[in-house]
Amino acid sequence: MNSLRIGLNQARLFLTFGVPVTFGVIGITGWFLGGLAMRPSLRAYQQLQQFTADASHELRAPVATVLSNAQVALMPPEDPLEQRLRLQNIVQTAKSMSTLINDLLFLSRHNGSFAETGLKPVDLCEILRSLAQDFAALAPAQSLNFNAHLPEHPIMLKADANLLKQAVINLLTNAFKYTPADGKVELHLFTQSHYAVIQVKDNGIGIPSTDLPHIFDRFYRVDTVRSRQTGGFGLGLAIAQQIVQRYGGQITVNSMLGQGSTFQISLPLKL
Ligand code: ADP
Repeated sequence: MNSLRIGLNQARLFLTFGVPVTFGVIGITGWFLGGLAMRPSLRAYQQLQQFTADASHELRAPVATVLSNAQVALMPPEDPLEQRLRLQNIVQTAKSMSTLINDLLFLSRHNGSFAETGLKPVDLCEILRSLAQDFAALAPAQSLNFNAHLPEHPIMLKADANLLKQAVINLLTNAFKYTPADGKVELHLFTQSHYAVIQVKDNGIGIPSTDLPHIFDRFYRVDTVRSRQTGGFGLGLAIAQQIVQRYGGQITVNSMLGQGSTFQISLPLKL
């Protein structure tokens, strides 16, 4: 009987303390693991919320401009020239809204879901050569010196030519936008071990070191007023980064305020 009583006491002790402690440990572990599992969804939700808020904020100002100009233009015309200016303002603002909407659509459409199938090997040299011609034609209008240093031999990799083109266009457009007249913009392409390296160098206004960690964030602009004047929404670099990362590449920047910037894209030479 004694040994039975000891056994029963031990079972009662276990039921009184052991079971609640076990359930407690299971509960805490479950809560911790649940939180861990939820973290990516929570982050994605917060990003989506931020993205929607930023996009709405960017669209609010141009919509207000269009509305106020249209309302005044609808009044009995006093000066036809003024009315024409208002209509021109509406067209200009609508164009910039259209650019913003296209960029937003691009980001959401290509968010982690680039079509992998049907990708053909493309010659990076050929893509950049045609881009270089386009930008060389634009340079004199801005009194810029533009030079492209591309190898003679093809550099092949498997990617969507139009998307790669878009990434480099965004970098070149920025170099042109943020380099004052008589400045220099260069486009380089070379291979380094198993990577194709594209560099866009300018000796323009440069980027403050405190802004460098953020410039690839969506809607980030170093100087909102300056970027607004040049028509930028702070999406160009985010788009370039999204494209490059999708192909397993990396985009980096080196910049000195007042001296210029070098943006570099490295893409793995996979076929
Ligand atoms: P934006 O459309 O405003 O140019 P981006 O995403 O392309 O947006 O660039 C983000 C910010 O980085 C820009 O607002 C600009 O201040 C800065 N930036 C980008 N490229 C350059 C450059 N080559 N020289 C100086 N500043 C640059």
